[in-house]
Amino acid sequence: MIKAKAYAARDERSPLAPFQLERRTPGAEDVQIDILYCGVCHSDLHTARNEWKNTLYPSVPGHEIVGRVVAVGSSVKNFKVGDLAGVGCMVDSCGRCPSCAEGEEQYCENGFTATYNGPVFGGENTFGGYAQTIVVKQSFVLHIKHELKDLAAVSPLLCAGITTYSPLRHWKVGPGTKVGIVGLGGLGHMGVKIAHALGAHVVLFTTSPKKTEDGKRLGADEVCISTDLEQMAARAGTLDFILNTVAAPHQLDPYLQLLKRDGTMTLVGAPADPHPATEVFNLIFKRRQLAGSLIGGVRETQEMLDFCAQHGIVSDIEMIRMDYINQAYERMLKSDVKYRFVIDMATI
Ligand code: NAP
Ligand code: ZN
Repeated sequence: MIKAKAYAARDERSPLAPFQLERRTPGAEDVQIDILYCGVCHSDLHTARNEWKNTLYPSVPGHEIVGRVVAVGSSVKNFKVGDLAGVGCMVDSCGRCPSCAEGEEQYCENGFTATYNGPVFGGENTFGGYAQTIVVKQSFVLHIKHELKDLAAVSPLLCAGITTYSPLRHWKVGPGTKVGIVGLGGLGHMGVKIAHALGAHVVLFTTSPKKTEDGKRLGADEVCISTDLEQMAARAGTLDFILNTVAAPHQLDPYLQLLKRDGTMTLVGAPADPHPATEVFNLIFKRRQLAGSLIGGVRETQEMLDFCAQHGIVSDIEMIRMDYINQAYERMLKSDVKYRFVIDMATI
């Protein structure tokens, strides 16, 4: 076993604190990565505080992991010691079901193993990236082709990047599409950048007027303050697709009304409590659709990383020390982050 320093939540009320974990010694199929940077996703907070009511403690969050390969098993062909590597939200899946066969491991019919809080196949609880090192099956490890100087800002692509890229591609967002991105947080700001790079006309919907200039700088063609009813009404029936990243329950109807006939709003935000019920007439009169989407498969995650490297896309980050994590969570709850915290793992 490999011992490593980490940060863990011991229960749903205590702040995260230092913790020592053990990783398995790399097997034939495994890659060991010393973690350089780990992004802070709102899902980390939902999990640490047991908001989804499924957390196993101690809980070590973190699924936006970038680091350097320090050991490989005998069957590992695609990685060697010294390579840069990434790990996202999954570390295993059944590999046999139709979803896995199609490269959509996130929809594994036997339940994928999450990078943290993921003891699906009868094993022990998984521990995530708020740690010095991680051991992962090679088929769930990603190649990083970005410039070395961008490395910290690449880490959020492993969750925020793929969670926005996958639905934008699935619903064929591109030139000629008018797309709304709701919420300018970690996911939302990646959604704006990626939708812009895909060639769409991007409208950002934010509750924070002070984010207007940033929204435009990040690639939004228009910024709409979603609490301003006039600004919302002016856009009724104009959008082909909406990606909703909001992390709290809210009324969906004002957004559904923005869709054209046959338009779709996809929810990726995962608040613990349900959204208020929607008005069915907002759906049936224009054959609109309300959908959801979960991260993305391994192959698509690599495609997204390569797309972002090609287009020079990284996250806008605020680098933090490991011991700042509890303050970072509080600031995230106040939408006070531009636009992703990333932990410098050298400070653990
Ligand atoms: P985040 O950085 O905290 O951003 C969320 C944004 O939502 C905020 O910046 C804010 O944007 C808006 N918002 C927050 N509270 C709001 C409220 N009460 N009313 C209206 N708007 C509000 O969070 P994140 O890391 O991007 O994650 C967003 C959500 O996606 C979380 O629930 C997370 O668990 C989930 N998630 C889902 C997947 C998936 O696979 N589906 C993957 C990763 C994360 P404005 O200030 O611009 O309004
Ligand atoms: Zn995440």
